[in-house]
Amino acid sequence: MNDALALSTLAYLFLGLLLGTLGPGGQDIAKEITRARGTPLTNAVMQREQPSERKLFGFRVVLTVAFILLWPIFIYGIMKDRRLASALEKDLAEKSKGLRYCYMGGCGTITCKDCNYKEDVTSFIHGIDSAVSGFQCQWCGKFHSVNASGRGRARQYERALVCDCGGPLERDKVVFCPSCKSQNLSYDLREIT
Ligand SMILES: [Zn+2]
Ligand SMILES: [Zn+2]
Repeated sequence: MNDALALSTLAYLFLGLLLGTLGPGGQDIAKEITRARGTPLTNAVMQREQPSERKLFGFRVVLTVAFILLWPIFIYGIMKDRRLASALEKDLAEKSKGLRYCYMGGCGTITCKDCNYKEDVTSFIHGIDSAVSGFQCQWCGKFHSVNASGRGRARQYERALVCDCGGPLERDKVVFCPSCKSQNLSYDLREIT
């Protein structure tokens, strides 16, 4: 019984040692040490001397020992931070790919940064019983405002989402310039409801 306990304790500490040196814990501890060492600039701002390497080594030992003893807690925090960071990054990359009607609000002006084309558009405005949503024809690039007033109109207008040219109207695709087809556009919000 005691042997089993000793063995699992040993396994626990060994796993902590691995995670705290070679694993993600080790990387975080190294970052912490770099931050503690500071740069000439950050040390000047904080009006302090760079801590001695002996002090930094002591700091590293304390962090590593604390990590080895309590690694499940630290690992949980590290993993949570990483997941959050990667989710944020993905979200940002998705949104920075271009302008989309579904992320724009109200009405405003779309400006093409390549050919300087400008047009006032409505992305989404609503009253009590009506709403106007913006769409773009995927063939000719023409901007459309579609009015969906009254109950039950939503279905009806979904079917009517076709441009004069026969092209499909979309609002979740990246908006492009009707003149030069560039996706390098900006949107200046004028009003939001
Ligand atoms: Zn069209
Ligand atoms: Zn353009």
